Amino acid sequence: GNTHNNFKLNYSAEEEYPDLTKHNNHMAKVLTKEMYAKLRDKQTPTGFTLDDVIQTGVDNPGHPFIMTVGCVAGDEESYEVFKDLLDPVISDRHNGYKATDKHKTDLNFENLKGGDDLDPNYVLSSRVRTGRSIKGYALPPHNSRGERRAVEKLSIEALNSLDGEFKGKYYPLKSMSDAEQEQLIADHFLFDKPVSPLLLAAGMARDWPDARGIWHNENKTFLVWVNEEDHLRVISMQPGGNMKEVFRRFCVGLQRIEEIFKKHNHGFMWNEHLGFILTCPSNLGTGLRGGVHVKLPKLSTHAKFEEILTRLRLQKRGTGGVDTASVGGVFDISNADRIGSSEVEQVQCVVDGVKLMVEMEKKLE
Ligand code: ADP
Ligand code: MG
Repeated sequence: GNTHNNFKLNYSAEEEYPDLTKHNNHMAKVLTKEMYAKLRDKQTPTGFTLDDVIQTGVDNPGHPFIMTVGCVAGDEESYEVFKDLLDPVISDRHNGYKATDKHKTDLNFENLKGGDDLDPNYVLSSRVRTGRSIKGYALPPHNSRGERRAVEKLSIEALNSLDGEFKGKYYPLKSMSDAEQEQLIADHFLFDKPVSPLLLAAGMARDWPDARGIWHNENKTFLVWVNEEDHLRVISMQPGGNMKEVFRRFCVGLQRIEEIFKKHNHGFMWNEHLGFILTCPSNLGTGLRGGVHVKLPKLSTHAKFEEILTRLRLQKRGTGGVDTASVGGVFDISNADRIGSSEVEQVQCVVDGVKLMVEMEKKLE
């Protein structure tokens, strides 16, 4: 952690309690002065403190209409040590998911019904991503340079042994030209430069671009981000509306990666309550965001657009990624839930919901 815990304890909890009066995020909603007093001198075995957990949410009050999360984990133990705060945040963010609930996993792509025929006149591209954290290493808000480099090294080793449709190569950010990097971002393959307030305030942009990069197969349909918001982000994507094929490649590739890591004696952080453990509580569970870039110029201006999304358990983003606006009525539409339902169920929700929205769009023309 980068806070000075020892000095801090010279002051009372009252004197240290952050001003959250202008805030609209889940952390600010949950963190009372009493809770702050109770948790403020705890730390995880690697030294992550309450102030480290909440700093991003203190610095980023959020948007009046969009509820952000406002906290991060610095290591696997953060969710246990700070559960008085994080359990209610998780419940609040994830549709009432309780501290006693159990998560489920289903990466059998054959269980997905349909999804190979989303209308390509509307659906421009399909994508499924998740995150994975390597056990025994601190997470991006808290890891050291050495740890981050170790994560990069063992990830490259593992990924380089993939073959067939997954055969690929690692491209470190450090040896990319500015133009190459900008092109990969513009083509939606690579994470943005460290401009996001979440990344910056949570300490995840420290030492940028050291030990960050992207690994991908030859035709850029299977990609892995290294050391952005999570140790690994595994992505399957392609142009058009064949979400079934995207999900098949996602499941098969992800399971191969898991096997290789296991062979090298590295597991991923997981437990039966939280599912896959990731930096942002919003991604716990499957870590899965399955989505399409879809043209909805008419439906998106309809008074009921937001209500339709909420009812279908979907969320919208602009096509430049999180916190960007839609251009020309094209939206990134993806699953809202990540915990308490399986990977298959979440992608099914996207497939069925997007199909319905495209039909509605056609009726409005
Ligand atoms: P993530 O949840 O993966 O962090 P972001 O919203 O940060 O997603 O977006 C990361 C990049 O992925 C952006 O360039 C975004 O445009 C791209 N992206 C997201 N969904 C799709 C999609 N369905 N098709 C093409 N690109 C996408
Ligand atoms: Mg992101």
